Amino acid sequence: MSKNKKLLEEFVEILLGDDAVKILRVLLKEKKDLTEDEISERTGLARNITRKNLYLLQEYRLVSYKRIKNRETGWYYYYWRINDDELPLVLLELKKDIINKLKLKAEKLRSESSGYVCPVCKRRYSFTEAFNNEFKCTYCEAELVYAEANNYVDKLSDIIAKLEEELLNEQRKIQGS
Ligand SMILES: [Zn+2]
Repeated sequence: MSKNKKLLEEFVEILLGDDAVKILRVLLKEKKDLTEDEISERTGLARNITRKNLYLLQEYRLVSYKRIKNRETGWYYYYWRINDDELPLVLLELKKDIINKLKLKAEKLRSESSGYVCPVCKRRYSFTEAFNNEFKCTYCEAELVYAEANNYVDKLSDIIAKLEEELLNEQRKIQGS
């Protein structure tokens, strides 16, 4: 489980940021349900930030709450806890999200870094733009050259492919067990 917890913290940091990780750590450490106030106190985060992040974590099914009425005050309190049992499945979902985010980023980088470029003024053109201008720069009329996506995009694509393979293996394992 501790390897899962480390992975979980990393994923949450990528997807939701530091504040969500702080909350996650507190809930993982305390073995009991905590109110928003208690979580806010232990993390040092403002109450509204705490609440916002708890709901974000809930969207990923990482935490859940029980609403309990205080008999004396008549007020309702929300008690939050980590969804320990669902953690392996949740981790898979998080990994899928991260892969999708990386794919979008790679696509964006690819479209930004590949295409046609003017060797003189370095202006960039998409294929359509280059085609419409007969592959000549509209400013200096130089012949445009095709520019490949840069190395970073290739590296990112490799990482995505590796993550997708991992995801497939893990899905098979879970379905097989
Ligand atoms: Zn030019």
